[in-house]
Amino acid sequence: MEAWLYETMPDQKVRCLLCSHQCVIGNHKRGICGVRENCDGVLETKVYGRLIAAGDDPIEKKPLFHVLPGSRSFSIATVGCNFRCRFCQNADIAQMPADRDGMVAGDPSTPQQVVAAAKQRQCATIAYTYTEPTVFFEFACDTAELAHANGIKNVFVTNGFMSDAALMRIHPFLDAANVDLKAYTDDFYKKLCGARLAPVKATLRRMKELGIWVEVTTLVIPGLNDDPDELGQLATFIATALGTETPWHVSRFHPTYRLLDRKATPVETLFKARDIGIAAGLKYVYTGNIPGQGGEDTLCPGCRQTVIARRGFQITSKLMEAGRCRNCGATIDGIGM
Ligand code: SF4
Repeated sequence: MEAWLYETMPDQKVRCLLCSHQCVIGNHKRGICGVRENCDGVLETKVYGRLIAAGDDPIEKKPLFHVLPGSRSFSIATVGCNFRCRFCQNADIAQMPADRDGMVAGDPSTPQQVVAAAKQRQCATIAYTYTEPTVFFEFACDTAELAHANGIKNVFVTNGFMSDAALMRIHPFLDAANVDLKAYTDDFYKKLCGARLAPVKATLRRMKELGIWVEVTTLVIPGLNDDPDELGQLATFIATALGTETPWHVSRFHPTYRLLDRKATPVETLFKARDIGIAAGLKYVYTGNIPGQGGEDTLCPGCRQTVIARRGFQITSKLMEAGRCRNCGATIDGIGM
């Protein structure tokens, strides 16, 4: 199908305007994401309705801890990604846009089928996740619009590299996003991800301006982005540019894909990162990928009582009602808390 958001150029080239790579694509070639192809001067998306993953998850798995806690989220993905992270946790689907039998891998689906499946499984949200939703933007937009018409909210789990034009197009239907802020140096983004830092920060700022609920995730990798000063700068950016109510998830790295030369993040590094976030003024900082150590609980920003206790993705107890702490009455930020 013809892609959205591109412009034609001389010599049958096109420029894709969907993400900040802004790829100039020659005839019969594809962009960096591997799923948008110039076919005789017309840019086509090869992944519309070709789902490589579909199923329901706890919303906490995204992770989104401040969006309808305890609800289910119908989660979909196609193949492809505009990043080349050496530590990709879903490389088998994100970094495999190679065709099979002349078609991009994935099962045919329609927005109607996705929304019907979400309703049937009583999901309060549809999550565009696992790979980068920007690269299946047209399908995500069509599905998100239909979801809203059916009373279902939409959440993106994204690297934040989408263009402003893309964000403006989807934002009426986008309720929340978990955005990776993978590090706070351009060098990290260039060398480890094949991308840049500045567009991600711009997307985060813009999402907040547009009223989209934002949570931020940072995978803390030993020796690459765990410097306390850098984590401090990152946390300060979240607190000052996005607001102290923005949850920050600091997650444990495990050796994977092309980053096998270093060990898993020490647990104490994650707790140090959490302390750095709290010192920067953030109200909600969570440790991820280390279940059962207390770092997944939501504490009331007023009285510091645990208002939502979690183990992994499961809520084990709640001490709040209608968005307020039952102990001191303070507001707990988020959607449908
Ligand atoms: S989505 Fe991004 S990576 Fe893919 S073709 Fe467009 S500009 Fe390039």
